[in-house]
This record gives sequence, structure tokens and C-alpha cells, in this order.
Amino acid sequence: MKLLEERIQKDGIVKAGNVLKVDSFLNHQMDIALFNAMGEEFKRLFANADVNKIMTIEASGIGIACVAAQYFNVPVVFAKKSQSVNIDGDVYSTEIESFTHKRVYNVIVSKKYLSPNDRVLIIDDFLANGCAMNGLLDIVAAAGASVAGIGIAIEKGFQQGGALLRARGYHLESLAIVDAMNAQTGEITFRAQ
Ligand code: 5GP
Repeated sequence: MKLLEERIQKDGIVKAGNVLKVDSFLNHQMDIALFNAMGEEFKRLFANADVNKIMTIEASGIGIACVAAQYFNVPVVFAKKSQSVNIDGDVYSTEIESFTHKRVYNVIVSKKYLSPNDRVLIIDDFLANGCAMNGLLDIVAAAGASVAGIGIAIEKGFQQGGALLRARGYHLESLAIVDAMNAQTGEITFRAQ
């Protein structure tokens, strides 16, 4: 998606440790006109996927998922980061290792909001090694729901998540794929798609 690539090129900051900072339009301050264009593009890419629910993970996925949901006319459920252990058995839970924070989170989704009738489009801001996405896929599987697709704003194509998910047969669409970035020069190279 040209508009997103141009914005990353203009305002993205490459940090050491393979981290791309996009706080000025996506991860902290949010450019809603851009989110709208992204939502429209997700709708175009998953038009025939029969989506009846969008799922994401707090916090950064929520804004993108909510704007996209307006194009699909479906509810959004987000996986919550939780400290507590599931004693009552009323939630699906899994552990996710955070790429940016280098720690492990327990995440939960209430059993009330995910069922075998659901065809879920999973949306997130970044795809790196795929840990967050694997956790969300575990939760969808535990609910007996099906995965209609995976929509990512920015995939870092030099990390393994995207390749592994595509090899598993998922319909994965990333609006921008960064194939290389250089913390010294700030240079960012996108995959042609
Ligand atoms: P993964 O689980 O695929 O390794 O990493 C994806 C998650 O880590 C995303 O939900 C995102 O929040 C965060 N993340 C991974 N890489 C980056 C990055 O380069 N920049 C930012 N801002 N977040 C990232």
C-alpha cells in the first residue's frame, strides 16, 4: 500500500535491534485518515473471506482493527494482557513473548466472545517473528473458530513470522513489507507487492 509505505519512509524511525518506530502516526499518535485508508484496503483484500469478527491484541492493534471493522460491519474482540491465572475456565488463554518488550505476557479472550461460528480476521500493527500472531491463532483454535485471514499493517519481512504463516497456508496480507532497514543510515527498503 503506497500511502503507508510513503508514510513509513517519511516518519518512521529505524532503531537499533530491528525496531521500527512509528509512534507519530500508528503506535502512539494515530492518523485516522491513514487508518481509514488501511481499513478500506483490508476490506478490498479480504472481500471474499466471509469475515464475521475481527480479532486483535491490545494495545496497538485496537485502533487499526476498529477502523477496519467499520468497513466489514463486524464486531472487534481484542485479546487482553492479563496478570491473573484463569481459575474459572471462562477464558481462552495463551502466553505470548513480546518482541519489543522482551517479556512474556499471558493473554486472554472471554469464551463469550469467540465461538465455532466465528470466521475471524486477525489484525495487528506489526508482524515480526510471529509470536503475537501464533498466540492469537492458538486462541482462535481453542475456540473452534476459523481463521478467515490475517491482516497486518507493517510486516518486517526479514524476520521469520510472515514466511512461516504463509507456509502454513494462512491468507496473510501485509499492507507494507519492510525487507531491510538500517539503523545507521535510516534507510528502509520495501518488498514490491
Ligand atoms: P512478533 O510477535 O511477530 O515477534 O512481534 C509483533 C508484535 O511486537 C507486534 O504486536 C508489535 O506490537 C511488536 N513489534 C514487533 N516489531 C516491532 C517494531 O519493529 N516496531 C514496533 N513499533 N512494534 C513492533
